[in-house]
Amino acid sequence: MHEVSFAYLKKKRRIPVLDGFSFEVGQGEWVALLGESGSGKSTVLALAAGLEVPDQGKVMLAGQDTSALSPSQRAGLRLSHVGQIFQDFRLFPELTAAENVAFMVRLGGTPGAEAQERAAQALRDVGLNNRTDHKPDELSGGERQRVAIARVLVASPSLVLADEPTGSLDADRRDEILQLALRVLPQAAFVLVTHDPEVAKYASRVVTMPTLS
Ligand code: ADP
Ligand code: MG
Repeated sequence: MHEVSFAYLKKKRRIPVLDGFSFEVGQGEWVALLGESGSGKSTVLALAAGLEVPDQGKVMLAGQDTSALSPSQRAGLRLSHVGQIFQDFRLFPELTAAENVAFMVRLGGTPGAEAQERAAQALRDVGLNNRTDHKPDELSGGERQRVAIARVLVASPSLVLADEPTGSLDADRRDEILQLALRVLPQAAFVLVTHDPEVAKYASRVVTMPTLS
């Protein structure tokens, strides 16, 4: 994204978040976006994913300017190019681990049996082959995040956006999850949002959020 300015509008009040913010990430690169709570890290990810568009400046997603696209075009681009991982996992609580992952493959248009096979493979890749029939509330935090990583993995996104992915895990689980993500998603452009300098150590480059003056 280049020279991006962005403000939320809430009840006619303007809440400025970014003012001329620029940021790039290349294939195979891990960039940590480090900043205090409220500094606009999640907003940067929403812009990068095409969930929001900038007020000024330009956001390029998979070679396209998001401001030139309709919301449904942006959703299509997101589905085929972007994987997202969240601090609170955001798995479907009623679905098993295997179903959560297969759902993502089905969204991409792959039929049932093949979707199940690809989901099973992704769960093996993240070391969860013995937990495939468990629902999220029957899994630990680290295991839930592995399911979320498997769900990203099956879609082979070129861009992975992770918002405080280890924020609710202990230090050992944090290191396991980050090492796993590095191992299974080596080709993706990876943006890792964190306020934890320990997490930023995993990145090949650190970008610190500017403070708005
Ligand atoms: P961070 O992820 O670094 O904690 P955010 O990007 O979530 O920061 O938020 C940046 C600022 O924008 C904060 O002041 C926050 O209150 C505000 N904000 C975030 N989301 C919204 C929203 N949907 N509507 C209005 N203000 C928001
Ligand atoms: Mg945030």
